[in-house]
Amino acid sequence: MDTLIQFAYVVSAGLFIFGLKMLGSPATARRGNMVSSIGMLIAVVVALLDQGIVDYTYIVGGIIAGGIVGGSAARLVKMTSMPEMVALFNGFGGMASLLVGWAALSPMASTFTMITIVLSILIGGLTFTGSLIAYGKLSEVIDGKPVMFAGQQIVNSLIVLGVIGSAFMFVQNPTDPTYLYIVVGLALLFGIMAVIPIGGADMPVVISLLNSYSGLAACAAGFAINNNILIVAGSLVGASGIILTQIMCKAMNRSLSNVLFSGFGSAGGGGEKIEGEVKPISVEDAYYVLEAATTVAVIPGYGMAVAQAQHVVKELQLELESNGCEVVYGIHPVAGRMPGHMNVLLAEADVPYDLLLEMDEINPRMETVDVAIVIGANDVVNPAAREVESSPIYGMPVINVDMARTVFVLKRSMASGFAGIDNPLFFKDNTRMLFGDAKESIGGLVKEFG
Ligand code: NDP
Repeated sequence: MDTLIQFAYVVSAGLFIFGLKMLGSPATARRGNMVSSIGMLIAVVVALLDQGIVDYTYIVGGIIAGGIVGGSAARLVKMTSMPEMVALFNGFGGMASLLVGWAALSPMASTFTMITIVLSILIGGLTFTGSLIAYGKLSEVIDGKPVMFAGQQIVNSLIVLGVIGSAFMFVQNPTDPTYLYIVVGLALLFGIMAVIPIGGADMPVVISLLNSYSGLAACAAGFAINNNILIVAGSLVGASGIILTQIMCKAMNRSLSNVLFSGFGSAGGGGEKIEGEVKPISVEDAYYVLEAATTVAVIPGYGMAVAQAQHVVKELQLELESNGCEVVYGIHPVAGRMPGHMNVLLAEADVPYDLLLEMDEINPRMETVDVAIVIGANDVVNPAAREVESSPIYGMPVINVDMARTVFVLKRSMASGFAGIDNPLFFKDNTRMLFGDAKESIGGLVKEFG
């Protein structure tokens, strides 16, 4: 029986790994999700048989209640709120590991098991509160500004020392729960203290990092209850979360420590006065320019997600193509609010994947583009990242739309993007602002063609 159970765990671990691999391409991502889910189903069923459970009443109740809440939340959540949902998932994953660790406590446990129990409680606890703060900042339930105060690093260091000290004391005296309560309390407090100094604009990175922590907590819980598949799944989440965190930092040309400790977003503006004037354009005039264009690059951003404009964008692409124009899309790695955000939306509208060019592919050909259409993107096309040394985003790689012959920027107002920084693109000679909701503006253009 035990061999069979371990074999089933190996099968589900294999399915997790294949599923993850398939998530690497939009063509196979859906199937990848399904493959991983089947792996998880096998893991759950086998774990329920494996752990010598005597009464399933609460477990079945928990599965039904959790299934209903999770299933309806996932169905109801708006695409733009997906990062908040992931934050909550991470938080509850952390809490689950904390509880599993706590439940595994036993006076008979070896020192190694005690250490893994304390780690699952510690990492799970800080992941829980850290994720709740990240959720609050992203959804604007709490202020997204970094909260900084004098002596913050000292306070945080004292908390860390306190956690390590009480964890050590607890492992030495497992029968006295006082130190355990201190570990739990300090871990929960540390999650809050670690995330409050980080600005709302960096929350997606923090969520990815907390995702990694939730994996580590699960891995520790796996050791605590001696469950191999929990160790494997936790390690996979831990490793993939940290890789994604690195990718996001790289795309913003910032280090992880800069994201975590610099209080990015508290400084505002870039200081420099922007020269030039804003030139609005009407849908009709924009149509005349597009009608004469032979190459168009579409650069989508968060505003396309808000407007849900992906389907009309595809219609515009078809109109332009039937007019003899070549259309490509330029995708910035951190456009939108989560990695792959734009790819998911455009795939939903059946935009062929080979038309999506990454930043490194589109930038060298930008000078040959007749019209770059920026749809609800702001920070990821901000030339200040190249030109204004005092700008907080100076050095971040951006899509160089200003190098196209003409740039149309579709947005509703002159408001700044997520990072709260002015954008000199709007004032450039070759830029025309097409103000309004992106879906309506593009719908208007499609009508002009039709
Ligand atoms: P931005 O947040 O910079 O800009 C979005 C723009 O869309 C706004 O300026 C807004 O202007 C416009 N907009 C909003 N609603 C509409 C609408 N209905 N119609 C038309 N326009 C609309 O988005 P970007 O995608 O350019 O940049 C992403 C930001 O998120 C970057 O700062 C990035 O660093 C950050 N980030 C992203 C991560 C990711 O994984 N994707 C991770 C970490 C950070 P207006 O209000 O005037 O309409």
